[in-house]
Amino acid sequence: MPNLKPLIFAQKQKLFALSQRSFQTDLLPEGAKAYINGKWMNSIGATTFEVKNPYSKEVITEIANCDQSDAQIAVQAAREAFQKWGFETTGKERGAILNRWYQILTQKEAELGKILTLEQGKTLAEAKGEIQYSASYFDYYAGEARRIRGEVIPAPVLNRQHFHTREPIGVVAVITPWNFPAAMIARKAAAALAAGCTLVVKPAAETPLSALALAQTAEEAGLPKGCFNVIPADHDRIGDISKYLCESHDVNCISFTGSTGVGRLLLSQSASTVKRVCLELGGNAPFIVFESADIDIAVQSAIASKFRCSGQTCVSANRFYIHSKVHDSFVQKLGEAMSKFVCGNGIEKETTQGPLIHEKAVEKVQKLVDDAVSKGAKIVQGGKIIKGTTCYEPTILTNVSESMEIANEEIFGPVVAIQTFETEEEAIQKANSTRLGLAAYFFTNCMKQTFRVSRRIESGMIGINEGAISSAEAAFGGVKESGLGREGGSQGIDEFTQWKYICLRT
Ligand code: NAD
Repeated sequence: MPNLKPLIFAQKQKLFALSQRSFQTDLLPEGAKAYINGKWMNSIGATTFEVKNPYSKEVITEIANCDQSDAQIAVQAAREAFQKWGFETTGKERGAILNRWYQILTQKEAELGKILTLEQGKTLAEAKGEIQYSASYFDYYAGEARRIRGEVIPAPVLNRQHFHTREPIGVVAVITPWNFPAAMIARKAAAALAAGCTLVVKPAAETPLSALALAQTAEEAGLPKGCFNVIPADHDRIGDISKYLCESHDVNCISFTGSTGVGRLLLSQSASTVKRVCLELGGNAPFIVFESADIDIAVQSAIASKFRCSGQTCVSANRFYIHSKVHDSFVQKLGEAMSKFVCGNGIEKETTQGPLIHEKAVEKVQKLVDDAVSKGAKIVQGGKIIKGTTCYEPTILTNVSESMEIANEEIFGPVVAIQTFETEEEAIQKANSTRLGLAAYFFTNCMKQTFRVSRRIESGMIGINEGAISSAEAAFGGVKESGLGREGGSQGIDEFTQWKYICLRT
């Protein structure tokens, strides 16, 4: 059994100086550890790296800095575990474990939420919401594990039976970003484990603690050793580890969520072993408000879509196209709603907007705003870094045009960049003028327009009169350079299974 003595963060007093609260958890190991083959382990080189609170910048803890050798051990553990988990368990048995995992996550929502806020910065309410969202995948795939069906197909001759069976693809290497440290792992892990696959998880360097806490809850749920391994690593080591994972014959699938640039790299590195690569990549979501829209609903949805995680989500509304006739009313109502925001430490109850993940992220947002203003955009509100912090003022920019960087790049910050349009055709053309196609949103009360526009928008997901679209039951994913494959829904199982045709002479 791993050492599960309660961890009291070494810097507890300092860390919670702002909230005057202390925090203990038995969801993380004592000392800096990775989780491999059901054991809490140091990295082979015994090296560690610091995990920092993005708001206070204080060191939360040090954690094992894994390298390629650790990754190899983890892959070996997952390979061995796969023989049993993949072929000697039933869907019903796997589903029962996933269901227990769901229940544990639900019970420990508050504790897991705190860990998440500490390392990621988002507000506690959002962090708990992310734990619920993560749990919902285990709930959903606990049921789906029993419904992974094959087919009996009519043979063209009488003395044969033809079958299509579905098999787990094998060992899945999971590489995830820092914006949803629990949910991006849960969305992959729940489906992969339901299908009978085993996993090696490489979480983002900024947010490895939620991944390790998930490992602890997996063990409590009774997941056999080796099925879920976590190898944290810092930025300097990730390149080597990922290259190994992509090129290893013992890894059958790379499941990545992150930026399009890194996704492209992993796809090319995986070419030598022709393995399956599932990519959930960047977004550049258009948010179109047509003339007939209910402006209050559009504003409410803009808040939900744009400001979750302080704008650092892949499905965040990125380019606002507002019909010129409703522009002023939308801007005014949105401004009023945004004036209620409180920026600060995510752990504080009153905070509605946490910090961005690090200095580089806030500087990038400021650069985009400065570029837009220099080319004629108007700041309606916000527009600055909040002094001495990594928080960025919730911002509205109007008079934005296509020539500005902000109209073409993923902002990943709390900035609403608004352009106007006159016709439906113009709005569709602008919405599609990107190589990315993850999420899109539009607002209308015209039924015919609803169908016309949803057919023509080039995007994997569309919210119509709705700004919060994610759900375990639905297929999440993008088109164009936003990715390959889908997560969630019954489609999520497809990523981790392969078809086998069996021909039986009778
Ligand atoms: P990122 O691509 O920098 O990092 C994601 C993961 O890749 C991390 O684990 C990181 O350590 C690893 N990584 C970084 N450089 C690497 C390299 N050279 N080789 C191999 N691995 C490497 O992305 P991020 O900044 O952590 O996250 C933000 C991005 O993720 C945004 O573009 C966002 O849209 C995207 N995202 C997409 C989805 C989705 O479901 N489509 C969900 C969340 C985030």
